Amino acid sequence: MRRAAEDGLRVKAVGTGHSFTAAAATDGVLIRPELLGGVREIDRAAGTVRVAAGTPLHHLNEALAAEGLSLTNMGDIMEQTVSGAVSTGTHGTGRDSASLAAQIVALELVLADGSVLRCSATEHPEVFTAARLGLGALGVISEVTFAVEPSFLLTAREEPMPFARVTEEFDQLVAENEHFEFYWFPHTEGCSTKRNNRSAGPARPLPAVRGWIDDELLSNGLFQAVCSLGRALPGSVPPVAKISSRALSARTYTDIPYRVFTSPRRVRFIEMEYAVPREAAMDALRELKALVERSDFRVSFPVEVRTAPADDIPLSTASGRDTAYIAVHMYRGTPHEPYFTAAESIMTAHGGRPHWGKVHSRDAGYLREVYPRFAEFTALRDRLDPHRVFGNDYLRRVLGE
Ligand SMILES: Cc1cc2nc3c(=O)[nH]c(=O)nc-3n(C[C@H](O)[C@H](O)[C@H](O)COP(=O)(O)OP(=O)(O)OC[C@H]3O[C@@H](n4cnc5c(N)ncnc54)[C@H](O)[C@@H]3O)c2cc1C
Repeated sequence: MRRAAEDGLRVKAVGTGHSFTAAAATDGVLIRPELLGGVREIDRAAGTVRVAAGTPLHHLNEALAAEGLSLTNMGDIMEQTVSGAVSTGTHGTGRDSASLAAQIVALELVLADGSVLRCSATEHPEVFTAARLGLGALGVISEVTFAVEPSFLLTAREEPMPFARVTEEFDQLVAENEHFEFYWFPHTEGCSTKRNNRSAGPARPLPAVRGWIDDELLSNGLFQAVCSLGRALPGSVPPVAKISSRALSARTYTDIPYRVFTSPRRVRFIEMEYAVPREAAMDALRELKALVERSDFRVSFPVEVRTAPADDIPLSTASGRDTAYIAVHMYRGTPHEPYFTAAESIMTAHGGRPHWGKVHSRDAGYLREVYPRFAEFTALRDRLDPHRVFGNDYLRRVLGE
């Protein structure tokens, strides 16, 4: 950092590059994460783990599981680095438990002048509050301390359900389950729901063969073939979607958290995700469905709906409000702009906040309006990085000069 500053170069740290935005792009020095990995300390009494910033989440999950510990909640893959994941607000679904950034209890940052700053609720709390989800704009994270808990078992219940029922019963489904999410299959009335709740056991993981058939053969292999067909012959998308949605089946399994929360995603896609106030979510989703029905969009990827409780992080998509996430996806190589643009106008009409790491077209003018604590973040940025050593085009768009 010091040498880059002396040479007048800008600096960006990158994770695994799983963001769909150019959040980590730079024309200056790129700090890669590979040599900054590993669990540094587990403090059982405090219920914390200190981990180097470049550690991939799968490594952290496995290391914690080996010690009988776990994060409380997480997203649906675990390829990302801990620092990249928290920096854009990576989240799963939860009634009471929030994003990965909300599970941080301390951070170590290298600032623009090369100095090292440790922050937590008691050390530099004003930096800690914001830097948990900092978009790489405040400093290079070198270490993250997460709260962890003794490992537990989750029972997952996956079940097809009609769109009308899920949307009508959404509030109840969220209230009754620790982690509720669902996928709606465009061009159909079908949804696939997933409820994860803590269980006393015993563990009943998916049998290896069933897991392979469901996750690799159907969710990845067959889905890949269906998406490729849809890209070559867009007219095939609606009829194939109808057949596939009828083939959905229920399954129940019980396993340690990361094996329930995450699954392999091998079919490449582009994604946009908006966080809307929870109470507006089902209206927004119905509008999205009506949009797909009256348009000539051919959408082979499901729309994913998740939730998070309000948190206290200035730039968190769930900052200060109970939230539901609506994510639209398109198979890679398929034109996504018309669909995403139309979906985005529905989400922004509901005061939606875009996921910082996924495709969107918003700028600082809009974001300032939907984040009540936006100015708190930019004031901190002005103090910690007045010369914009960590600046790039993406930050200029979303945070301003
Ligand atoms: C298949 C797939 C599934 C996904 N699933 C989910 C999901 O379930 N939930 C969800 O919310 N998101 C999800 N995402 C989005 C993904 O979690 C985020 O985009 C995440 O930021 C990617 O982490 P990364 O390590 O690849 O970081 P990168 O994309 O490389 O970087 C992200 C940001 O973090 C900054 N950064 C990285 N390291 C540091 C550091 N050491 N210090 C400071 N800043 C740093 C970068 O500069 C950049 O601004 C998914 C993405 C894909 C491709």
